Amino acid sequence: MVDQRRTLVRGGRIVTMDDTIGDIAAGELLIEGDTIVAVRERTDATTDEVIDATGALVLPGLIDTHIHLWQTVLRGMASGLWTGEYFERVLPYRPRFRPEDMYAGGFAGGMELLSHGVTTAVDFCDCIGSPRHADSAVAGMTESGIRGLHAYSVRASSPGSFTSPEQRLADAARLRAELPKRGKGRVGLMLAISDVGTVDIETSVREVAHARELGLGITMHANTPGQVTALDEAGLLGEDLVLVHGNVVTDEELDLLAAAGTTMSVTPGLELAFGSPFTMLGRALRRGVRITWGCDIPSFTNADLLAQMRLIYHVQGYLDGSSERAEGRSGRRRPGIPTLTPLDVLRCATIDAARAIGLGDRIGSLTPGKQADLVILRESAFGASLSDPAASVLLQSGVQDIDTVMVGGRVHKRHGRLVHERRPAELIETARAHVLATNVKD
Ligand SMILES: [Zn+2]
Repeated sequence: MVDQRRTLVRGGRIVTMDDTIGDIAAGELLIEGDTIVAVRERTDATTDEVIDATGALVLPGLIDTHIHLWQTVLRGMASGLWTGEYFERVLPYRPRFRPEDMYAGGFAGGMELLSHGVTTAVDFCDCIGSPRHADSAVAGMTESGIRGLHAYSVRASSPGSFTSPEQRLADAARLRAELPKRGKGRVGLMLAISDVGTVDIETSVREVAHARELGLGITMHANTPGQVTALDEAGLLGEDLVLVHGNVVTDEELDLLAAAGTTMSVTPGLELAFGSPFTMLGRALRRGVRITWGCDIPSFTNADLLAQMRLIYHVQGYLDGSSERAEGRSGRRRPGIPTLTPLDVLRCATIDAARAIGLGDRIGSLTPGKQADLVILRESAFGASLSDPAASVLLQSGVQDIDTVMVGGRVHKRHGRLVHERRPAELIETARAHVLATNVKD
């Protein structure tokens, strides 16, 4: 039987990210089962539970469009490393992952995201040594309680039991068929295709066609020059594609992405820490390319998407300011400057991200009829913020202020604490005992 329990979130400032509804200064949000059924000043509803949000901000759950959850098992291994060292020191551990280690990464990583107010994530799963690895990653993510998409990597990164690329494509189709059961309607599937240019274009065409036949969204790391041009020439760009990083994408390629409705996932810490060129974001925003955010590799940085959003806001502000000064201007807003406002940053993490991963009709805003995925941010213990809500979220809040996190009406964090009984750290320790047992050399 479907649980149609009614919960009322009362008294908070509701930041809906729905342009039609706008913000409600002190409103009520009514949830029935897993769905938002009303958002207005007063609902006069009788309910099973009331969550008092007086003085708090109520906003849609954040969406991370690029994270590798399996690397939660390797937390900190890449922190402080520099560029190529990551590839040499961390990735050699990949073949040592067993299915149960994938479960640990999905479960602990999913819970860590939830604790940071992220209610949906795209898990770029490029550690699939067998069908069971994929199933276990999905199981871990599903049981953590987070919503998400398992991005099944068909790249031959972990040889395991697969002997041909076709077997990986067939296994993704197998998982697609089994997902309604395995993902409990909360975890879906995308296809993470091989990097264009590292395989012949016929392979890329075949992988994209496979995803589209199965009705799956597509994602791909885009780190090398010419990939967007190659995708365009092969007719592969589209609204169902999320490209990651894109540090060396040219202006002409950004125009192609904007025209095709293709999204970029920017992972701020990684774009900056490993010394990549970073002018793409400003150029993309000016051309109308849809942008979203990701934390990328838990081996390097934790799952605090809000911290990543703050980082990118400051970096883009710095870049805008530098170019304005270089052109003899400073300190004055003008059309297009600053490139990125706090509201823009929040939009990229909510409604734009939902649309980018094909879930725009289900999540991304606090709109009646959508899933009840939300975050309640308490007023700071050190005095309320005087700024607008988006600036308060971005610049005056941190993980310590995340009081409540809900996915599909189910509460995962309350009064600042996760409500789960299982301890994720124990799972990680057990997985590590195996993965790190032998010194790995390439
Ligand atoms: Zn990545």
